[in-house]
Amino acid sequence: MSTFPQQDSSDLNDKDPEQLRIHSIETFGTHDGPGIRFIVFVQGCQFRCLYCHNPDTFDVKGGKFISLEEIENRVLRQKPYFGDEGGITISGGEPLLHRKKLITLFKRLKEKGINTCLDSNGRLVNKEVEELLEYTDLLMLDVKHINDEWHHKLTTVSNSATLKLADLREKQGKKMWLRYVLVPGWSDQEEYLHELGQHFKDFKTIEKIEIQPYHKLGVHKWEALNMQYGLEGVNPPTAEEIEKAKNIFSQYFKEVHVN
Ligand code: SF4
Repeated sequence: MSTFPQQDSSDLNDKDPEQLRIHSIETFGTHDGPGIRFIVFVQGCQFRCLYCHNPDTFDVKGGKFISLEEIENRVLRQKPYFGDEGGITISGGEPLLHRKKLITLFKRLKEKGINTCLDSNGRLVNKEVEELLEYTDLLMLDVKHINDEWHHKLTTVSNSATLKLADLREKQGKKMWLRYVLVPGWSDQEEYLHELGQHFKDFKTIEKIEIQPYHKLGVHKWEALNMQYGLEGVNPPTAEEIEKAKNIFSQYFKEVHVN
């Protein structure tokens, strides 16, 4: 059993600005953003979340390429099904690793009236990320833990960039949802749920927070990759545990949704 090595985004080595390195595509997704969505799961992530159910997206050199043109054409073909709310979601892996190409893609799609959504762990904040967010109608920001030490234990990295990205989004005044994976014993400590609520309670751009109860559906992928699964023996939260977290978040956010 091994752990997956950390990689730099320069490992991406994707020189062609028109080719995006992806893991997979879901054409009629209903769980990642509002309405019916065309979801692109990009390849590569620098977090190492213990519960990740897509560890096969870690490798920045893995996956396959698809052209931006093909994505655009497929999204436009699906446009009649999007209704008022649907559109494209870029998830992963981590979309910010592909920020330059996503600026190009989102610019083009917005010109064609497509709603854009980004599901990100907030790993990076820079000028390009800021520009990408300008073309993003909805940012779904995954906050893995409000306490930096626990964030580190869960993901191997700090939460400081994620919190900075939330500040940037708030400054932009554009829509944001928070997403929170609830893991018993790891991210369900009452004091930290309150701390998270306190931290974000005055953000005007946050429409809701989504609780994502921890599940074990990805464990077989870790085994298949011969990697050590770090949450062995941890069970999904019970209905009571989920309810408790929901009640705490309800004190701070106008909408709390359990996925
Ligand atoms: S941020 Fe997402 S893709 Fe990356 S390791 Fe965590 S759960 Fe997996």
